[in-house]
Amino acid sequence: MSLDHTHLAARRSHVASANGHRDFPIQNLPLGIFAPGGGTPLPGVAIGEMILDLDAALAARLVCSEAAEAVEAVSGGTLNGLLALGARHRRALRSQVFALLEEGSEFAGAVGRCLHRASDCAVLLPARIGDYTDFYAGIQHATNVGALFRPDNPLLPNYKHVPIGYHGRASSVVPSGHDVRRPNGQRKPAADPAPSFGPSRNLDYELELGIWIGPGNALGEPVPIREAADRIAGFCLLNDWSARDIQGWEYQPLGPFLAKNFCTTVSPWIVTPEAMAPFRTAQRPRPEGDPRPMDYLWDEGDQAHGALDLELEVFLVTPGLREKGLPAHRLSLGHASALYWTPAQLVAHHACGGCNLQPGDLLGTGTISTESEGGWGSLLEITRGGKQPVTLASGETRRFLEDGDEVLMTARTRRDGFVGIGFGECRGVVSPAPSVR
Ligand code: MN
Repeated sequence: MSLDHTHLAARRSHVASANGHRDFPIQNLPLGIFAPGGGTPLPGVAIGEMILDLDAALAARLVCSEAAEAVEAVSGGTLNGLLALGARHRRALRSQVFALLEEGSEFAGAVGRCLHRASDCAVLLPARIGDYTDFYAGIQHATNVGALFRPDNPLLPNYKHVPIGYHGRASSVVPSGHDVRRPNGQRKPAADPAPSFGPSRNLDYELELGIWIGPGNALGEPVPIREAADRIAGFCLLNDWSARDIQGWEYQPLGPFLAKNFCTTVSPWIVTPEAMAPFRTAQRPRPEGDPRPMDYLWDEGDQAHGALDLELEVFLVTPGLREKGLPAHRLSLGHASALYWTPAQLVAHHACGGCNLQPGDLLGTGTISTESEGGWGSLLEITRGGKQPVTLASGETRRFLEDGDEVLMTARTRRDGFVGIGFGECRGVVSPAPSVR
């Protein structure tokens, strides 16, 4: 993937808040759907503390050719049509939006009339998600969780050969800021003789990356690994909220079901592969003795720059921390390099049997945990299944999440010589379970 003037660190925006912005400097330009004042959903680009209205830019003839086609493809308040067009159109749009927002742009006056303060807007899901699939590509997470059940043999024999995943529920994916309601369900602690129905007592989060599908593949037509990266329209943060007690009782033999389908939160801006180009990195070499990925998952280019150089953080804000004015508690600082499979390998594997991926589909990578304990991506791991509670500065302790707790995830790139970009926030507050009957 090539670098160009849109990646240069020296370039600045006439939108003052973009310069030095943690997430959305002019080098990022993520795509999303926003609603000024909670009104009509519009396609937009995040720039600093502002959002550029792409519909207004099109109407003012500030974009043309393929960039205009990209905006025209947006319909019904979803980016699916734009995502379907692929890299050529995304690149044209990025390049023209960059020119509009760059310091010294001759269009600055006209562009100013297309900008909204982000704080005055709702940011919605960027696409109508046809299907959502969640993988299990964080090998340390798989090892940590496996060890809770099988200390001597944490990884099952298939793990290093086949990307493990399950089909999730698209209807309950929500954008950052949406409350997550504690689910009711069947729980059966080991000590109880029979299961009972009621609110989950072991509500957890999972730190993951989301992968947005761009151009899809026809039913029955696999995606070759060398083309798989081209099917990815961008990335986001994803919190796969998980009810561990419901999960522990229901998951055998078919896997996750109600423990995972009550809510999934995503950061709502799609960070494009073009924005991530400077922050691609080599897939971490597999340890000696691990099997080489099979040919349909092996591509030299993908191994050389298919991974993401991305720092990931999770913070917890509790009612006690809030009341005492204490800062958020950082639960982990991790890194996307802990993924055992690249995003392209997940796409190629998903389609290898002929399953058709469609524009706007969402893939989760699986929980990302690093080898060191400070980078573990769920409370299940951090508290060893709830046995070692976390103590907070407020004096509160947490085995799992309580009502009123807020989980915030962030992602950020770093590379010398480049302006770091971020994914924006992925946050949600836990609200009480609905009363039973
Ligand atoms: Mn998950």
